[in-house]
Amino acid sequence: MNPDIPLSIPDRLEAVRARIRAAEARFGRTPGSVRLLAVSKKQDVAAIRSARDAGQLAFGENYLQEALAKQAALGDPRLEWHFIGQIQSNKTRQIAEHFDWVHGLTTAHHAERLARQRPPGLPPLKVCLEINISGEATKGGVLPDQAATLLAACRRLPGLELVGLMCLPAPALDEAAQRHPFRALRELRDRLASPGCPLPVLSMGMSDDLEAAVAEGATLVRVGTAIFGPRH
Ligand SMILES: *Cc1c(COP(=O)(O)O)cnc(C)c1O
Repeated sequence: MNPDIPLSIPDRLEAVRARIRAAEARFGRTPGSVRLLAVSKKQDVAAIRSARDAGQLAFGENYLQEALAKQAALGDPRLEWHFIGQIQSNKTRQIAEHFDWVHGLTTAHHAERLARQRPPGLPPLKVCLEINISGEATKGGVLPDQAATLLAACRRLPGLELVGLMCLPAPALDEAAQRHPFRALRELRDRLASPGCPLPVLSMGMSDDLEAAVAEGATLVRVGTAIFGPRH
């Protein structure tokens, strides 16, 4: 590809889909087993529309007010909205009312609020526990050895469906290094999963490391810049 010719969003989207398909094939994953979440934070409504018109229906947003404004402007009930930012207690009601998924659950307190505030007419809010898989002091998420406690506090709350684990590891230079935290998240999932709580979702991998994540079992990759270009 000639980097001097700017690609359109539909072209970039197709390129990301091709990367996912290639990674599924290369690592022996079932074709179609990895979902693409388009991370549209700091991108405008026209960009989201362009991706939507190219068939992308699941979008991830980090900032609540920005997300609510875009949802209202788009007014498209086919879209699926994933809250992937940091949760604040005073924002849980709007998250519970306006999103389909939450990826960054880190406390039982937030889980209880989201469960209580989820409108009864809506299906349960799908949630992933965010794990600080490499134990970095600056990172959000619960440490791996606290995950079982958080899981126990969240798994039976009505209004929530605990579907899996999420991580956001520090950038690593090569694919082998990128795979380490993703493998650790998968192994943690395997230890925590039970017949009553199978935790099928591994939300991991972004623009620069999605192949490594697919290699280690990602079922959902969260991709922003590779689809939309630099953020505004
Ligand atoms: C911004 C963001 C992404 C997307 O990152 P890119 O490098 O732009 O693909 C994925 N996950 C989370 C939690 C993010 O905040």
